[in-house]
Amino acid sequence: MKKEIHPTYFPEAKVTCACGSAFTVGSTRENIKIEICSACHPFFTGEAGKVLDVAGRVERFKARQSKAVAKPKKAPAKAK
Ligand SMILES: [Zn+2]
Repeated sequence: MKKEIHPTYFPEAKVTCACGSAFTVGSTRENIKIEICSACHPFFTGEAGKVLDVAGRVERFKARQSKAVAKPKKAPAKAK
């Protein structure tokens, strides 16, 4: 590697999250503070699915869809 162009590399840089969890990564910064991590993000904790259920959008869509199937459109009139 070329000398004096690379930043200092910390193979065990400490990452601390706002939720309290901490882990190490390789980085050019010795300490990293983050607000969200794999321990507290809804994607990993599975809370995102609950939020969707609360909104009930899937159920509303299914209701609309079943309505549309029950009442099909009239066949368009033939053009003269
Ligand atoms: Zn976290």
